[in-house]
Amino acid sequence: MFTRLPAVAAITLAAMVVVSAQQGPRDVDLIVTGGTVVTVDPAGRVIDNGAVAIEGTDIVGVDRAEAIAKQFRGRDTIDASGQIVMPGLINTHTHAPMVLYRGLADDLPLMEWLNNYIFPAEAKTVSPEFVRAGTRLAALEMIESGTTTFADMYYFEEEIAKETVRAGLRGVLGQTIIQFPVADAKTPADALARAEAFITAFKNDPLITPAVAPHAIYTLDGPTLRAARELSRRHDVPTLIHVAEAHDETNVAQERRAASPVAYLEGLGFLGPGVLAAHGVWVSDADIQVLKMRGVGVSHNPESNMKTASGTAPVPAYLRAGVNVGLGTDGAASNNDLDMFEAMRFAALLHKHETVDPSVVSARTALEMATIRGARALGMESRIGSLEVRKRADLITVSASGARQTPMYDPISHLVYVMRGSDVRNTIVNGKVLMRSQKVLTLDEAAVITEARSWAEKVRASVAVKGSDGKR
Ligand SMILES: [Zn+2]
Repeated sequence: MFTRLPAVAAITLAAMVVVSAQQGPRDVDLIVTGGTVVTVDPAGRVIDNGAVAIEGTDIVGVDRAEAIAKQFRGRDTIDASGQIVMPGLINTHTHAPMVLYRGLADDLPLMEWLNNYIFPAEAKTVSPEFVRAGTRLAALEMIESGTTTFADMYYFEEEIAKETVRAGLRGVLGQTIIQFPVADAKTPADALARAEAFITAFKNDPLITPAVAPHAIYTLDGPTLRAARELSRRHDVPTLIHVAEAHDETNVAQERRAASPVAYLEGLGFLGPGVLAAHGVWVSDADIQVLKMRGVGVSHNPESNMKTASGTAPVPAYLRAGVNVGLGTDGAASNNDLDMFEAMRFAALLHKHETVDPSVVSARTALEMATIRGARALGMESRIGSLEVRKRADLITVSASGARQTPMYDPISHLVYVMRGSDVRNTIVNGKVLMRSQKVLTLDEAAVITEARSWAEKVRASVAVKGSDGKR
């Protein structure tokens, strides 16, 4: 197409081109340069000797290093030579402060573990101080292992939000609603009021997306489930809920409504965009179609499901149906860490094993579930989940030149089948460097760990009085 410009406009345009060429590269806040950039963008671009330019909170350039150097000059530079540069990992399901229960009780069925250990320990130890100390420890672990966004369900969520902001992480944080009295609410009505106050307080925070977190159908009655969902609809915030995690939950739904957990929630009018269903293990093909039709995201937690022997979520069927599936670690009490590289690896391996088909859940799909698909499951794909211009600058660099990573034919294969959280070297969220050359800048590592150890004494005492065998 040939467009004829008026003479004056043409001269002005020519002058602008000359001026911008004379100005040379534009100054930006930070350039991460020299690594293999795995963008996870729609074209799946992998750029050898690439670079990412960051201005303020946003990515302004993703290209080969020399092309970025021509366009931009960084006020600060991170040399990522010998590393992979990739989007920050998105943990779509966790209970951050539960890191303080890490390894407290293992090798038990889900309901026994919850009812005999976790709920009693929580009743005696959860407080604003406990939650703050736990969130600091979880944030330290997440920053160190490359998680930049996490979706959380717990108590005193406003305290979790404050610590998350201090640590510099991005969070979709859900105030828990549960039927029985808990540390931060004596009744479901108290919990709903607390959730609403939390939403109002954090609705405009650049890092925090407040959410409502009705715990599960087996810990809530129908009217409370409806009220929780109504609250999140009224404020247009996400709803986080455990769905069809263990087989026992199907009995609860059968007794109440002669339905599956998904069909029960559908009958309540609960399901819709903005709902993130954690686990989704015990679902039929019809349930999967309902979740797809309602635009519900699913958080797949392979390690937690394997450890509590809850069953295997039909992830290949979800993917075939076009459901947005992200990955999660679940709380550290059932994992027992927050390493999203492990979540990717387990997701890729578990479904090959389960289906006896090595082609299901490829390395690329596992990587996408930990990044862009997780962003979609949370409704945040326009802001995070890939390295693209105009998205928020949430990215990490991962060492790729050690013995364990050599040789490297395919960086995506390595990210899923070789890398560990401890390989992460730099973590950047919203344009801010949170960890530089494996030194966390926003938290005092030694102080956080010392504080967590002192809480562990109280946790140990809280469960030591339980049981007649004298063991716990
Ligand atoms: Zn959970």
